[in-house]
Amino acid sequence: MQDIQPLKNWSMIKDTPIAIAGPCSAETEEQLLATCRQIKENIDVSLLRAGIWKPRTRPGSFEGIGEEGLKWFKAVKEELNMPITTEVANAQHVELALKYGVDVLWIGARSTVNPFTIQEIADALKGVDVPVIVKNPINPDLALWMGAIERIYNSGIRNIAALHRGFSSHQKSKYRNEPMWSLAIALKSELPNLPILCDPSHIAGNRDLILPISQKAIDLDFDGLMIETHYDPTNAWSDAAQQVTPERLAEILNTIKIKQSSS
Ligand code: PEP
Ligand code: MN
Repeated sequence: MQDIQPLKNWSMIKDTPIAIAGPCSAETEEQLLATCRQIKENIDVSLLRAGIWKPRTRPGSFEGIGEEGLKWFKAVKEELNMPITTEVANAQHVELALKYGVDVLWIGARSTVNPFTIQEIADALKGVDVPVIVKNPINPDLALWMGAIERIYNSGIRNIAALHRGFSSHQKSKYRNEPMWSLAIALKSELPNLPILCDPSHIAGNRDLILPISQKAIDLDFDGLMIETHYDPTNAWSDAAQQVTPERLAEILNTIKIKQSSS
């Protein structure tokens, strides 16, 4: 995978480490627009995020707004002139996201575990030029994470990044998902050209841990962070405990210390 493109060569991303921010879910047009506006007012981020199709663990909670939300993305992009990413979990999601001009696709942890799902997504990406972020599988299985990245690569995509969001565990812990940093480090050594991002929000499960997890990722030379950000986190329709306000996002990003490169 020598020809994987570094993040700096992704057309919409200029800096490393990069910051990706936005709500867990797009809820209403007003919520999405107001959140993204406030992010832009507070801090420079490279890419906005919002989930349209939400993989909820149990039925009965908000499962995402669906295609309607992709129309809101257009309004956000036009007003703020910023790129946006969303999760895709099947071929129809890929087709719709591309139809509405979503700039970057991400594959969620519950999809990365399933080679059938990943192959379906990879097949839908054949002949398409769009960056893809591949989250780790929910279980700590490096081969499964690499296999998903390879399937996306084999479909012809060259702008690929991995995203570390922690791993499920039945043990009681301060984390929602155990970071198990050694797995992400192992991925970095197996695929040294592959950009790797960290999602401290899903590792933490609560907003108090976002800063230390982000700092740890940057200390480990991760290429960027994806941080769930909502204009009214406590009333969010999904992942309310772990989202931060745009003001807090700016504080977190301004507090993180970035090592000066020695070269
Ligand atoms: C998300 O980013 O909102 C999400 C559902 O993530 P994950 O696949 O990491 O659980
Ligand atoms: Mn979420």
